[in-house]
Amino acid sequence: MTQPIFMVGARGCGKTTVGGELARALGYAFVDTDIFMQQRSGLTVADVVAAEGWPGFRQRESETLKAVTQPNQIVATGGGMVLLAQNRQFMREKGIVIYLHAPAQALAKRLEASPQAHQRPTLTGRPIAEEMEAVLAEREALYQGVAHYVVDATQAPDTIVSELVQTLRLPAA
Ligand code: ADP
Ligand code: MG
Repeated sequence: MTQPIFMVGARGCGKTTVGGELARALGYAFVDTDIFMQQRSGLTVADVVAAEGWPGFRQRESETLKAVTQPNQIVATGGGMVLLAQNRQFMREKGIVIYLHAPAQALAKRLEASPQAHQRPTLTGRPIAEEMEAVLAEREALYQGVAHYVVDATQAPDTIVSELVQTLRLPAA
């Protein structure tokens, strides 16, 4: 029995990509809370926000976090998962929390390169680089505070995965 691993960080930092690769490397199951919620409800993030507002989305997200958490599980969280104190406390207590850290410019570049895959209701209405600056200014301390480990997410995914496998000292699959 091994603790679940939670991937946190801003949109575009690689939670889904690196989380999936880490799960393969460790032989863990993988779940993405954004995708899980969408599949369960049949609603996109935009649908939920339009119908219930951000508080409604955050409530669903919090319930999803608890529902998917189990041993030998990698959980890629939504970028805003850390906003609720109860989610931060839950992740720190139940598992190992990894913050994929990258500067706003790097995040913006990635999101611009795959805009279709990353459509969300805009948080600020500003250009993407400015938006990511604002998001990090608001959340950086929360990501740092919840994390047991902070990794440089500008490295290649397989480099990040090797680093994590070594740091966590978990047997590779
Ligand atoms: P998140 O789930 O944190 O929003 P994704 O895993 O969806 O981020 O990645 C966002 C985009 O950035 C994708 O196009 C993905 O291929 C790319 N990406 C993710 N991690 C890296 C990385 N370490 N190096 C280069 N590109 C990456
Ligand atoms: Mg993702």
